[in-house]
Amino acid sequence: MNAMPRGVAAVVVAAGRGVRAGGVTAKQYRQVRGAPVIRHALSLFIDHPQVTFVQPVIHRDDATTFAEATAGLKLRVAAFGGATRQMSVRAGLEALETEQPRIVLVHDAARPFASPALISRAIAAGAGGAAIPGLGLTDTIKEVDAHARVVDTLDRNRLRAVQTPQAFLYDGLLAAHRRALVAGREDFTDDAALAEWAGIAVTVFEGEAGNMKLTTEEDFTRIAAADWAALGDVRTGIGYDVHSFVEGDHVWLGGVRIPHPQALSGHSDADAALHALVDAILGALADGDIGAHFPPTDPQWRGAPSDKFLAFAVDRVRQRGGRIAHLDITIVCEAPRIGPHRDAMRAHIAEIAGIGIDRVAVKATTNERLGFIGRREGIAAMATATIRLPAGAQ
Ligand code: MG
Repeated sequence: MNAMPRGVAAVVVAAGRGVRAGGVTAKQYRQVRGAPVIRHALSLFIDHPQVTFVQPVIHRDDATTFAEATAGLKLRVAAFGGATRQMSVRAGLEALETEQPRIVLVHDAARPFASPALISRAIAAGAGGAAIPGLGLTDTIKEVDAHARVVDTLDRNRLRAVQTPQAFLYDGLLAAHRRALVAGREDFTDDAALAEWAGIAVTVFEGEAGNMKLTTEEDFTRIAAADWAALGDVRTGIGYDVHSFVEGDHVWLGGVRIPHPQALSGHSDADAALHALVDAILGALADGDIGAHFPPTDPQWRGAPSDKFLAFAVDRVRQRGGRIAHLDITIVCEAPRIGPHRDAMRAHIAEIAGIGIDRVAVKATTNERLGFIGRREGIAAMATATIRLPAGAQ
């Protein structure tokens, strides 16, 4: 027998193919809030101080996708699931046999938003044998027949909508799964139902409304819309920059190298378009300007690609919990022609900003041969940035 403390294990089941959420990617590998659903779900348990072992169960065909989605996470080697949820949970339980945990939590990978407090409640309740999170119902529930005729109105005070993580004494649940296998019962839709069948008393503890299961396309759309709506503090900044021409054979504009019989003079790569854009983002944050953050007197920025400055400004937005909504640049010059490079600039900027290319505009105009720009002494650029910060922040 193992004399070590037996600890708490979590079996996270992700073996389903998620066809209900549509698309080719199984729902547990889709992105939500900046990471795959399954990465969120596994991290809940990895980060929980009371959980010792995290055992993923995946579909055999998803091994590569899983490895990419969970890169860097401290996990046990994934077990391969079976054709039913029940078979997959059993595979996870069997994979933990060498660890002999005292308590096992069984969680659906499609529920990425459980709180640490819910997991703590599950562990405390699971010590009693079997416990599941449940929520009271607010809708009235009708029972219908095959013709959709109501045959009964159920007493909703006696009903609970059940979630995961479900918590069990490991030995009892493993034994129940093995008995079900021998009995040819492979039809239980959750572990509580299997435990009930095995004669284990199951209690319900308080679940969480936020612990939703991402099942349909609408679930993903709703979360994205809610996250966007929560960034209700909309701000706009403006930026302007000029660099003069010197001898050379190319210019940098919008992060793109453009062959040209002159170069732009400056301490860094002299990319006036990106400099204007960085100032626009910093302006929207009311966070100084490019010269304050990257002094031209600092030798480390000599010849530096302006991508670095843009990445810095983007990161300042992220640090505030915000997102960039839109970027718009106008380049003013007689030459070079910007049009052929417009989409390359947009793609480059969109990638650094972490947004879609449809949120980046690059426009160009000449100065009608007037002034210093018209005399081809330099290039000017203007930009605006629209960003969204969490509503209610100071
Ligand atoms: Mg500049």
